[in-house]
Amino acid sequence: MSVGPDELGPSATALLGDGAYPESQVSYEGATYWLERPTDGVKRLVVVADDESAFRGFAGTAERIDGKVRFVAETTPENAVALRSALPWLRPARFGLHTSAGFGDRLGLATPGHVRALKAVSAAINPVFAQQSIREMGRCHRTPRNVLDDATWGAFQAGWTKPVGGDADHLEELDDIDNTVAAGFVFYTLDPKAEVDPEAEHADPAAIQQKVEALDWAGLESDLATFTKRYVGQRIDLEREAIELDEQSVFRAMAKYGPSLAHAMAMYRRLMEKSIDCEVEFAVDETDYPTKPAEHVVVVSELQRLGMDFVSFAPRFVGRFEKGVEFIGEIDRLRRDFEIHAEIAQALGPYKLSLHSGSDKYSTYPLIAEATNGLVHLKTAGTSWAEALRVIAHNDPDLMREVLGLALDSFEANRKSYHLSCDPSRIPTDPTDEEVAQLMDRVDSRQVLHVGYGAILEEFGPQLYQVWNDNEEEHYRIIADHFVKHLTPFARLAH
Ligand SMILES: [Zn+2]
Repeated sequence: MSVGPDELGPSATALLGDGAYPESQVSYEGATYWLERPTDGVKRLVVVADDESAFRGFAGTAERIDGKVRFVAETTPENAVALRSALPWLRPARFGLHTSAGFGDRLGLATPGHVRALKAVSAAINPVFAQQSIREMGRCHRTPRNVLDDATWGAFQAGWTKPVGGDADHLEELDDIDNTVAAGFVFYTLDPKAEVDPEAEHADPAAIQQKVEALDWAGLESDLATFTKRYVGQRIDLEREAIELDEQSVFRAMAKYGPSLAHAMAMYRRLMEKSIDCEVEFAVDETDYPTKPAEHVVVVSELQRLGMDFVSFAPRFVGRFEKGVEFIGEIDRLRRDFEIHAEIAQALGPYKLSLHSGSDKYSTYPLIAEATNGLVHLKTAGTSWAEALRVIAHNDPDLMREVLGLALDSFEANRKSYHLSCDPSRIPTDPTDEEVAQLMDRVDSRQVLHVGYGAILEEFGPQLYQVWNDNEEEHYRIIADHFVKHLTPFARLAH
C-alpha cells in the first residue's frame, strides 16, 4: 500500500497558529490537518476544510472562518481512530519481506524522535512504531489500543506520511490474540517460549527418545515414524555448506521445540479465524540456548507443514543479547551464526531474520544486514525508555536520584525474565550530579534502570511525564540521535 498526502497549498502555512507542529501539517482529500500544543500544554488536532463532511467520525468543535470550517479536536482514542480512517498511511500495514524496524516505546512519547531518525537516515526501512509485548503493557498499565493510538499521534505529529506497521509483540496466550486483534495490530509475534523444553539441550539420547515419543503427535498432525522419515538422513544444501540432519540432532530439536509448535499453531489458528489482513513472526529468541541450524530447519519445516505462513523468524542467536547494552560474546561466531540462519531462511522461505533485544548492539548491525542482504527485521524496545531517562537526569537530577534508588530497591523483582549481567553493588547509591549524568552510559546502572520501568512509572509516573513534556524537544533529539546510529548500518541494504 502506498497512499500519500496531497501537495500542501500555498496558503497552508498561514493557517498554523502559535504552538503548531509545522511538520505535522498535511493535506488529504480537501482537508488540511495538523497538531498543535497551545500554552496549556494539551495537544489537539486542528482540521481546516471547505465543509464539515471532512470531520465525520471526529468528536470536536467546528467554527466557520473566511468561508472555511475550522475544526478542533482532542487527542482522544476515538479521534485516533478517526484520524487513522481519514489519513490512510497512519493505518498499520503489512511490510512483507521488506526491511523493517520496530521501535517499541513504553512511554508513548518517543515516536516523533523515531520519525526524525528515519527521516535523517532516509532509507527504505519500514517502521513499526506501535510495538509492545503483553508483559510490558502490563507493567506500564497500557492497553493495546493505547500503544497503537500513541504511535498514531506521534507519527502524525512528526509528519510521517509513509506506511507504518503495528506489532503485537511476544504473544504467549490465546487471549493475547483476541485483545491485540481488537485494537487493530497487523503484525503478530507468536512466542511460545514457555513450551520450549530447555532440558532437551543436554538430555541423554534415551531421555530424548522418551521426550519425542511422548509428544502430542495427533496435535502435530503426524507420528514419530513419519516425522523420522521426513527429516533423518536429509541434507539441506545451502549456498556455502550443507546441513546434515542426523537422528540425534533431529530428535533433540523436536524434543526441545515440539510442544511449542503445537501451542504456536493454536495461536496462529486463532489469529486466522479473525480473517484480518495481517502477518506473523515466529519467535523463540528468549529461550535459554541458541537455536542450532538443524533446529531452525526442523522448527520452520514443521510450522510450514502445519500451515503457518510467516514473514519473519527470530531464532535465539549465539552469544548474549542483554537489555540495553552491546552484544556480549565472540563477534566472529555471531557473524557465522547470522550467515547460516540467513541461508536457511533463504532456502526454506524466503522469510526475514528478526533480531530481538536488538537495541544498542551496534557491532551486530552491519553483520546481520550483510548476512541477510536486507531481509531483516530489527526489533528494539526498552532502549527508548532508557534514553528518555537522560532527559530526567539532565533536567531534574534529584528526581533521577529517587528513580535510581527505587530501581535498586526493586531490582530483584524487576530483573525476572530478563537476561542481564549488571552488578547493582557497583552503582553509587547517592550519586553526585556528575554521576547522575553518566548513569545511562554505564552498563550496571543502565540495565538496572532499563528493567525498572514498571516500578519507576508506578511511583514517579506523573512527575516523570511532566519533565518529558516540558522538555520534549530535547527528548526527541536524544531519541533521534540514538536511532540514527541503529538505522544507518541497515540503510545500504534496505529494500
Ligand atoms: Zn524478543
